[in-house]
Amino acid sequence: MAKKGELLYAWTTDAALGKKAECGGAVSQLLKYALESKMVDAVLAVKKGVDIYDAVPTLISDPKDIDQTAGSLHCGTVLLSKLLTSYAPTMADKKVGVVVKGCDMMGFLELAKRKAVNLDNFLMIGVNCGGTVSPVKGRKMIAEKFGVDPNAVHKEEIDKGQFIIEYEGGEKGISMDELEDAGYGRRSNCRRCKVKIPRQADLACGNWGVIGDKAGKATFVEVCSDKGADLLSKAVAAKKVAVEPANPKGIEIRAKTENAMFKLGDKWRKRDFTDLSPNLWLTIENETARCTKCYACIDKCPVCFPVADRLKKGSLMVRPGTLPVDQMFHLRRLAHIGDSCINCGQCEECCPMEIPLALFSHAIRTEGDAFFEPKLGKAPYSN
Ligand code: FAD
Ligand code: SF4
Ligand code: SF4
Ligand code: SF4
Repeated sequence: MAKKGELLYAWTTDAALGKKAECGGAVSQLLKYALESKMVDAVLAVKKGVDIYDAVPTLISDPKDIDQTAGSLHCGTVLLSKLLTSYAPTMADKKVGVVVKGCDMMGFLELAKRKAVNLDNFLMIGVNCGGTVSPVKGRKMIAEKFGVDPNAVHKEEIDKGQFIIEYEGGEKGISMDELEDAGYGRRSNCRRCKVKIPRQADLACGNWGVIGDKAGKATFVEVCSDKGADLLSKAVAAKKVAVEPANPKGIEIRAKTENAMFKLGDKWRKRDFTDLSPNLWLTIENETARCTKCYACIDKCPVCFPVADRLKKGSLMVRPGTLPVDQMFHLRRLAHIGDSCINCGQCEECCPMEIPLALFSHAIRTEGDAFFEPKLGKAPYSN
């Protein structure tokens, strides 16, 4: 029986799935088992579309289809939490298994605080996350820094501080530090992110700390809830997943790596916020002057969800259509999200005018976090 708090190595017993998966396939197998055993009615996960830059969120009810989602897409910048709310009316009483990076998980917590989702209906399988690369920038980086045609790349991974590509005719890795100093690499919100191991999910799964003969072949699983322990225990009893205790040296390495990632996040926060802080409003005013009021930043934001339709209908003070943008539009938006921005980067990623929106809201939220409750991405309060 797995127990909350346990640290294990886990892998699928299905060799074909294990081959397709990123690190042994425990995540895919657990999701598959949850569907087969009817612990959940559906699974929301991510699969590869036309190429490695095309991460497609997919809602699955047939366990066979889970195999399509195996593997990690580091150019997959989608946020599943907001997306699920579009299914919410038809799924209100359904149980859903969902794969969550730190930002997906925080998005669900923020949605639950607003009563937009019921966390009791979710089985959250967390994946550790060192960061994601914007697909457009990723292509540019591969062409310009790696000197490789982005269309020839069939696999990418982030390992030991390097971004590594496999392509027709070879393999190449460049250090993330070098890429990021040159303006490539992870999205800027990911560089600042400090939710690396999503412990508020039911299970937190990743490759950090998997050493010895299991390196690359098993996932390090931290059991974070009784629900997660129940799923894992049942999948092991059904002989779908195999487990062994995590190597103590591996546990140490994982803790050190997480700590190093926190320090890196702090370094980027310092770098990004220090430049901004003396002229915050002036910078926001200048940058947002080119806004075209397309509302993508509001549509995609997991903490802005109920407002979008009303904004489009023009029933609020900030009317659509008028350009240049009325500064009240951004002032209102920032007032709304200022205490709840989870730094998921969706607003910035989707902005056609390339305005660094997440930087502004994350800077405001981080400052507020020092003084106010609730803290960024923490569990909902009972009231
Ligand atoms: P699989 O069985 O291969 O299942 C992988 C699951 O990940 C699938 O369900 C799929 O839907 C989901 N997925 C794939 N891409 C995305 C995406 N872009 N967004 C959301 N879900 C996705 N582990 C670490 O220890 N350190 C890291 O720095 C780290 N960074 C990661 C970054 C990303 C973007 C992702 C997706 C994962 C990262 N992981 C990291 C986790 C690791 O890569 C494996 O996912 C984990 O060890 C589970 O392996 P597995 O073989 O059991 O997963
Ligand atoms: Fe990963 Fe954090 Fe970036 Fe989300 S914001 S993709 S959890 S690094
Ligand atoms: Fe303006 Fe960009 Fe938001 Fe569109 S996404 S409304 S252009 S800030
Ligand atoms: Fe995510 Fe941007 Fe909304 Fe913050 S403001 S939660 S970064 S979409």
